[in-house]
Amino acid sequence: MAQRIDGKVLAARYKAEAASGAAALQKQGIAPRLAVIIVGENPASKTYVAGKARDCAECGILSDVIELPEQTGEQALLERVAALNADDAVHGVLVQLPLPAHIQESHVIHAIAPEKDVDGFTPINVGRMVLGEECFLPCTPAGCLAMLQSTGVPIAGKDAVVIGRSNIVGKPMALLLTAQNATVTLCHSRTENLREKCAAANILIAAVGKAGFVTADMVKPGAIVIDVGINRGADGRLCGDVDFAAASEKAAFISPVPGGVGLMTRAMLMQNTVKAARLQSGLL
Ligand code: NDP
Repeated sequence: MAQRIDGKVLAARYKAEAASGAAALQKQGIAPRLAVIIVGENPASKTYVAGKARDCAECGILSDVIELPEQTGEQALLERVAALNADDAVHGVLVQLPLPAHIQESHVIHAIAPEKDVDGFTPINVGRMVLGEECFLPCTPAGCLAMLQSTGVPIAGKDAVVIGRSNIVGKPMALLLTAQNATVTLCHSRTENLREKCAAANILIAAVGKAGFVTADMVKPGAIVIDVGINRGADGRLCGDVDFAAASEKAAFISPVPGGVGLMTRAMLMQNTVKAARLQSGLL
């Protein structure tokens, strides 16, 4: 039976570290501050943004939630981002995705100052990550890596499979695992023999967005399984991409949904915000 990787316990540890970092900055007269822009009324986005504001309060980080109407134009949004970039009191700038269809997300993300890019989505940060240079790591893959490391099982030399190649999860996840000396196979909807590839993996990361996608036959006995997916199951309940009960019978370690990667993503945002405040205060 797999050991559960408890995102709640681990995230609390990372948030406590962020909180002590924020407290140390405050002693030096620096108040770490995150600005989050949300455009429109997407209920899931609103929930995520409210969660981020709560996390900030918990960690002693100031936060501003800037709510803009659905019909906000791209130019107006770019101006808001530019104003936050120029505001010395703001250390982290985050634009909640997805944006309404009339706004091109890449234009907005690219406009965020790299030193305030606490999501790690700007080309500068992505490029630095590819090169293995100091940067803001994207929060979800960074959270997954922390979960893997929490098992105490060495990553170096292991065969890792990542299912999903999005810019925010799958691709950076593959890069981070490569940097840890895993041998990585990055799978997607065009991958042939996906089941066999997964079943040979020591580390399996599922970031597909389909409930029950990873079945027990795709899990190697003794593997570490990290479930990034956030879905609603047939019963309406929140679930991941992995058939948790069946996969738990084969894996050595497995992360649940809820109570897994989602909480780690939030904790990593707090860490990045404190890092941004340090960076902009000349302390890094
Ligand atoms: P995307 O929709 O951007 O990417 C999904 C990926 O899955 C694509 O690369 C796609 O392949 C691949 N895929 C789809 N169908 C199959 C298939 N049948 N076989 C193999 N691969 C397939 O999603 P995201 O990366 O943004 O998110 C993935 C999941 O993670 C979602 O459930 C999302 O809600 C969740 N998520 C969770 C976060 C957290 O904090 N816990 C944060 C971000 C996302 P292709 O590229 O070929 O289309």
